[in-house]
Amino acid sequence: MQNTVFTNVRIFDGVSDRLQPGEVEIQGNRIHAVAKGGERLSRDGKSVVDGGGATLMPGFVNTHGHLSYPAVTTLEEIGRMPIEENMMEASYNARTALDYGFTAIVSGAAAKPRLDIVLRNEINAGRIPGPRMLATSPELTVSGGLADGNMWGRQIPANGLVADSPDGFRQIVRAMVREGVDLIKFNNSGDSFCYPKVGSITNPMTEEEVRAICETTTNLGRRLAAHAHADSSVAQCIQYGVEFIYHATFVTDRTIEALEKVKDKHYVTPAFGLRYNMHFEGEPWGITQEISERIGNKREFDATIENMTKMREAGIKVLPFGDYGFKMIPLGTDARDLQHMVNYFGYAPWEALRAATAYGGEAYGVEKLGRVKPGYLADLIMVDGDPLSNLALFLDRDRILMIMKDGQYHKAPPPPQSHRHAAVAE
Ligand SMILES: [Zn+2]
Repeated sequence: MQNTVFTNVRIFDGVSDRLQPGEVEIQGNRIHAVAKGGERLSRDGKSVVDGGGATLMPGFVNTHGHLSYPAVTTLEEIGRMPIEENMMEASYNARTALDYGFTAIVSGAAAKPRLDIVLRNEINAGRIPGPRMLATSPELTVSGGLADGNMWGRQIPANGLVADSPDGFRQIVRAMVREGVDLIKFNNSGDSFCYPKVGSITNPMTEEEVRAICETTTNLGRRLAAHAHADSSVAQCIQYGVEFIYHATFVTDRTIEALEKVKDKHYVTPAFGLRYNMHFEGEPWGITQEISERIGNKREFDATIENMTKMREAGIKVLPFGDYGFKMIPLGTDARDLQHMVNYFGYAPWEALRAATAYGGEAYGVEKLGRVKPGYLADLIMVDGDPLSNLALFLDRDRILMIMKDGQYHKAPPPPQSHRHAAVAE
């Protein structure tokens, strides 16, 4: 296959604080060469794409995506949705995520036990478009915990997998690994989502249950993610090697210090957009600000701001995205999280983009991913404009000019003259 050379682009490489003019060569599914600052790559025998001054950068990596969650307002609705509709919606969501420049997703839990696994396999087989993906179990939970939507005497299926003993969880983990998951996700915190049952500051699992989940998963060579709002939940993530810590809302300074010591082993994804939208934009879905306060969402919102700011100062890797796809927080608006990181946690725009690309790729962890650098996987997007001065441009699908995953175009680049904003400052 012919190599492709992108010329006349400004490069965001995933880790630099500025765009640099340059050229990028793709060979097969990898980045082969990068030239910056006026150097030129050879064009001999290669397919040349004139980028027209657009920005070439790594595709986004979402470390807390729920592609198989349908666009609903409650977890109970996920449980009730029949598998056939659910699978079709998952497939639609996978394409939508890729359309918005998300070239890799670590699933933050599946809606049903085998949905993520089948979705990942279909994407890998090239039968449906979607990001590269790590498949995850449904949320493992205890009776009454987040994702247990059962009611006594009524057959309401939970979207989580419920157990109430170490052996119960061992059986679930082993079965999910048998089916083919990459990750096990468990809920060792409640959430304002399940008000008034188990709030975010409550850790409803026993130490023995958490240990059984983590040891069984690790022994079988799989990875871990946890819904961990409470301080004791985050401490367990550190103790048992849970790489993906979701929320980390109510961490104490002591736990932040402990996390700082092992900051290369963990990634914190607060999923702040959900908190934001529930509080400020939830009214059409029945969540007024008064309800947001009552169920504890506003408290989660405030604590997330305080603690993510502290984590940024401690150099802990805080990543954007997560929990997009519910009705009040539609898929495709995920990039709003980048601006939230700037507005609420104190990140510079380039740092938010570094978290969304280079750190996300590192967290994904399977291959070299998330940078514009020789040897890295050719997961790239080309955007119309300067994202460092306008993070909102990612919300407009038309301004994502080119999407490449694994060296293949999902969206082929347009002729350069059609770039509207490339040459002008924003
Ligand atoms: Zn989630």
